Amino acid sequence: MQVDVADTEPRANRLARFTGALRAALGLAVDVGLPRLCAACREPVGGEGLCAACWGKLSFIAPPYCERLGIPFPFDPGPGVLSMEAIADTPAYRRARATLRFDDVARALVHALKYGDRLDLAPTMGRWMANAGRELLADTDAIVPVPLHWRRQWARRFNQAALLSEVVSKTSDVPVAHTALKRVKATPQQVGLSQSERALNVQGAFRVPPAAKAAVEGRRLILIDDVITTGATVDACARALNRAGAAHVDVLVFARVVAAARAPI
Ligand SMILES: [Zn+2]
Repeated sequence: MQVDVADTEPRANRLARFTGALRAALGLAVDVGLPRLCAACREPVGGEGLCAACWGKLSFIAPPYCERLGIPFPFDPGPGVLSMEAIADTPAYRRARATLRFDDVARALVHALKYGDRLDLAPTMGRWMANAGRELLADTDAIVPVPLHWRRQWARRFNQAALLSEVVSKTSDVPVAHTALKRVKATPQQVGLSQSERALNVQGAFRVPPAAKAAVEGRRLILIDDVITTGATVDACARALNRAGAAHVDVLVFARVVAAARAPI
């Protein structure tokens, strides 16, 4: 007779096994002193970054997607097909990939990392990104974090893009070029701006400093940021890197805004 292990195992053991597996999946190193709350719903959790319910709500981006922008397609149009966005408004970067759709749970994770001092989330978020960008990273000489203006970095004490870059670097063995790009304009927050306003807002905001020219010229680069909304920021960064002679620029982010209905053309 075959015995179903799950049915014979005490409930507490099963629960412990489940949370252990989840913790391993999330791979979080949580300090003993930290409050153990779900980063999304603030319910107490056993040490993981997310509770099981919020974990289940994460929307990972997987193929089929636009070869160029990484925007998911509702059906598989065949290999190499581009999205309408990629054709209508070709970006300065070559390819972009994102781990998650930017929905409520993804937003909560990003905000917890950025504003909530949940730096313990960075290793998990970065590893997921390295996974989503594996194909791009195999073809990359250096990682370039999207820089903050020094005043904002000083106020926040860290740059979340640089933090995620460090984790992606550790996972992929691609070095980080921290000083390759500089934010020379303190741009207002992009929140609430239209696509064209966003593009205008970041125009001329990024520059490759003369000392970083050698780190950029002829190199295959990947830009890292937390979120793509319209892509205006990474596009402005890619323009600056291209002007300084980068061989190519790809983009890897934790989450990207995806409109409800997208179809390839
Ligand atoms: Zn939760």
